Amino acid sequence: MFNLEKMDNQVPGDVYLCQISESVSCGACCGLYNVGDASRKALTALMVRRTEAFLKLPRNMDAILDFGRKQKLVGKSPFRKFHHCPYIGLVGESRSRVGCLLHPLGNNGVDFRGLSFYGGLACRMYFCPSCHRLPRTYKAILREVAEDWYLYGLLITEREMLNAFFQEIEARLGRLLKKADIVGNPRHIEMVRKFMALKVNWPFRRRPGAGLCNYFFEDRLYSRPRISYKAIGETPSRYDTILRELGSSFDSTESLHKAEHMLDRLFSRLKDEI
Ligand code: SF4
Ligand code: SF4
Repeated sequence: MFNLEKMDNQVPGDVYLCQISESVSCGACCGLYNVGDASRKALTALMVRRTEAFLKLPRNMDAILDFGRKQKLVGKSPFRKFHHCPYIGLVGESRSRVGCLLHPLGNNGVDFRGLSFYGGLACRMYFCPSCHRLPRTYKAILREVAEDWYLYGLLITEREMLNAFFQEIEARLGRLLKKADIVGNPRHIEMVRKFMALKVNWPFRRRPGAGLCNYFFEDRLYSRPRISYKAIGETPSRYDTILRELGSSFDSTESLHKAEHMLDRLFSRLKDEI
């Protein structure tokens, strides 16, 4: 099932990012994270509950539409105009990754995606800006180091943050990055994983718990606010893009410097290694 090479030839951007292994996949464009509580625990519980309920359903149009209508979300979605699809659930033999519950693979070959809000064509054909625009090497690295669907899907649409991260590495190397620079070195794999984890454990986020969901569509209906450096008597950080995309807010020079120091430490893992 995971013939990634074959898939790479069929997608824009040449690196397939959506369903990549038994436990790593993404459902971000289905609105997976656009829920009141997008923490790992709450989202996993929602996926398990929803999938178990869906598996008991008779596969007919009325039952599926009724199921969709009854999917209640707890709490307020961060982006009102970003649809959370009630058919994103857990797929695969051991239900260990997110995916579409209406996909033919889980429904004896019948494609029920036409019953969704976006319609079957959009579900089949949509590819997010990361697929189109992230450099191939970055995508190949992320695909290799990702450990589970939750963090992978949270990060993979963070195009600006990922670009800034990998470009910083390239600036330190003084050349373009190669996939082997990272995946051939456990210390560097760990560095990328730690960077990915900042998305959930970043201590300088404007509102703790908020900002996990990323609105990445090209219409830019919602964007992350800029950091007000002036308010603390500072000029923009050299890590400005990363800090902004992590949803940071600083109330003092000291907190800004602490955040920069965390990133310095992370990047220092590259020292003398490549
Ligand atoms: S957000 Fe991008 S990577 Fe994720 S499932 Fe959609 S198209 Fe694939
Ligand atoms: S029906 Fe479409 S939007 Fe909903 S989970 Fe499936 S692919 Fe995603």
